[in-house]
Amino acid sequence: MSLRPTVDFLLYDWLNAPALSERERFADHSRETFDAVLDTCERIAREKYAPFNRLVDTQEPHFDGEKVILPQATHDAQKAYAESGMLSAAQDYDVGGMQLPYTVEAAANAFFAMASVSIGSGMLTTGNANLLMVHGTERQKQVFALNEFAGRFSGTMCLSEPQAGSSLSDVATRAVPDGEDFESDPLGPRYRLKGNKMWISAGEHELTENIIHLVLAKIPDDKGKLVPGTRGISLFIVPKKMVNTEGELTGERNDVALAGLNHKCGWRGTTNTLLNFGEGKYPVKGEAGAVGYLVGQAGKGLHCMFHMMNEARIGVGMAATMLGMAGYHASLDYAKNRPQGRPMGPAGKDPAQPPVRIIEHADVKRMLLAQKSYCEGALALELYCARLVDEQHTADAATADDARLLLEVLTPIAKSWPSEWCLEANSLAIQIHGGYGYTRDFPVEQYWRDNRLNMIHEGTHGIQAMDLLGRKVLMEGGKGLSLLAGRINDTIQRAIHLPEFAAHATALGHALAPVRAAPNAARATGEPTDALANAVPYLQAFGHTVLAWVWLDVALAAHSASESAARTGRLAAMRFFFHYELPKIGAWLQVVSSRDQTCAALPEDAF
Ligand SMILES: Cc1cc2nc3c(=O)[nH]c(=O)nc-3n(C[C@H](O)[C@H](O)[C@H](O)COP(=O)(O)OP(=O)(O)OC[C@H]3O[C@@H](n4cnc5c(N)ncnc54)[C@H](O)[C@@H]3O)c2cc1C
Repeated sequence: MSLRPTVDFLLYDWLNAPALSERERFADHSRETFDAVLDTCERIAREKYAPFNRLVDTQEPHFDGEKVILPQATHDAQKAYAESGMLSAAQDYDVGGMQLPYTVEAAANAFFAMASVSIGSGMLTTGNANLLMVHGTERQKQVFALNEFAGRFSGTMCLSEPQAGSSLSDVATRAVPDGEDFESDPLGPRYRLKGNKMWISAGEHELTENIIHLVLAKIPDDKGKLVPGTRGISLFIVPKKMVNTEGELTGERNDVALAGLNHKCGWRGTTNTLLNFGEGKYPVKGEAGAVGYLVGQAGKGLHCMFHMMNEARIGVGMAATMLGMAGYHASLDYAKNRPQGRPMGPAGKDPAQPPVRIIEHADVKRMLLAQKSYCEGALALELYCARLVDEQHTADAATADDARLLLEVLTPIAKSWPSEWCLEANSLAIQIHGGYGYTRDFPVEQYWRDNRLNMIHEGTHGIQAMDLLGRKVLMEGGKGLSLLAGRINDTIQRAIHLPEFAAHATALGHALAPVRAAPNAARATGEPTDALANAVPYLQAFGHTVLAWVWLDVALAAHSASESAARTGRLAAMRFFFHYELPKIGAWLQVVSSRDQTCAALPEDAF
């Protein structure tokens, strides 16, 4: 079974991606060039990623005392990815990019996430370099970002510390000016960093010549104290190996040391590290302290980081989606081939009959359709958000601003909804395999383990929920939520006149009204703790409403296509979502609107 027809349908029949080539930036593109990119990525993912997904799970990265060793397959896959030009796909032609719309880039990267999420397709490197292209100096772009796009260097994001995960204001890594001339370094104001960074993905390896860490740290005030809160956080480029102004390695190692590898539940093909900055293991010019170059203004580090958050969160949502999709395809294949049980006739089961394949049982069909509705729905949502990123960057000012606001409200959903529901899809894929699904002889347990990360990183589920209910639905006078409601109502208006969809359109309208009203009800006492106590149920209700809308809109596109099994399947997945999933929002919204304090008010000793 191939993912491609689903991607093609969503890109071309639903989102009309080729219309983007009417924009000046994408003028050289067409469906042909988009197809060529998709073909290449599909092929590399099939040949270099998928066959090695189990291998990278079993041969975890290990440290030989000097180097972190990864399987040769990871080197080969990442080399092929870099050579495809995908690291710089969205960049300008004059820096070697393809000026590819983000919608198509995201769709193309989906093939790698499905084939082997943990071999990795450079999401961190691209994100790191993209950030420098916006906030870096010309020299920082030349030396660091362009070498990352070329695949010579790779990138990391060093935010978390052992004591500072969700709460980045507690970052304790310190950065002090490096010498009298610190401001005149051509690579940017030069500092010495000391501190520990935890959970750093791809923090140590030999896949590239150098690793470019983007590190959040605080510059102490003149009394040597760190400014409390996020205001004091700055962003620094800290290369693993020192480079000169031409990007050549000087031969000197920077003072960044691997303190240990984390041994993870899943996603084992990517190293995960605890890094010590500036402990003196690799003194630079005889002194302890990791050399870092300031990016942007001092104290504005988080602002720079957040610049790339929308795309990073769409990337996480896409990874969760494609892991769910991989499980769906595997369990569909299994269900078509596994004989077990006999159908129930009016006279009970007839043991003389041969067993049927499990796909013939209604409950197995339920589990398959649930997976299809979660994963194909989530893919549609991610591509819709990716299309908004393109609108934000290339549409006229008013449309671009609408896209920006829509992304503000949709991004917590794009990140969190697939992390929860495509993980549930992975659980259903295991269930369909029965006992075999619980063994390492089949791939579905690995998909579940790999996917379990996505509710944790890039802002946990709880943090995303508080961001949605406490900030995003209220920001700019609630305009983002109103814009989204407008889009949902447009779909309702198009669907309500079609007999096949009228009931679903009405149900969506009934879901939207309480989702819009709940934030005010939650805040009625004026106590933020009352309002936010049930932020996760709100995230779930909001997410299910968004997915119901996406499915109805996708179904409208499917409806106008000619009769086929794929069309029947899409319409059934939409109906499944409306009949089995959307009604769940009543229970979730009830606790939000009534400010239910059952959990929040329970004293610790009662647990
Ligand atoms: C495999 C992996 C890869 C990672 N890669 C990177 C990376 O490359 N770079 C990087 O910087 N970080 C990375 N991280 C770190 C990741 O972003 C953090 O783990 C995450 O932000 C959560 O922080 P924490 O683990 O300290 O958990 P905590 O912040 O301690 O959270 C624990 C629990 O408490 C809840 N909680 C915390 N605060 C609140 C609150 N105020 N209100 C309500 N609930 C709350 C959380 O939702 C969570 O359920 C990675 C993590 C993992 C596991």
